Amino acid sequence: MRGCAGCGQRLPRALPGAGRPHMYCTPACRQRAYPRRGGTASGTTGAQRARRARQEAAGQASEHDQGA
Ligand SMILES: [Zn+2]
Repeated sequence: MRGCAGCGQRLPRALPGAGRPHMYCTPACRQRAYPRRGGTASGTTGAQRARRARQEAAGQASEHDQGA
């Protein structure tokens, strides 16, 4: 089963003939998966990774609640 490449959430079925299939459930997930390059790319601190994990968890929860 394929899911969002950003958070792993199940993706809606791609429309036939719609071109390239979706890889992310939301543009935000794509940005999370591919953060802007440049700047401090030397590494990520544990605190930053923990914060990001919480943001992803919160995003998934809110999306499920909305059920849109
Ligand atoms: Zn996602």
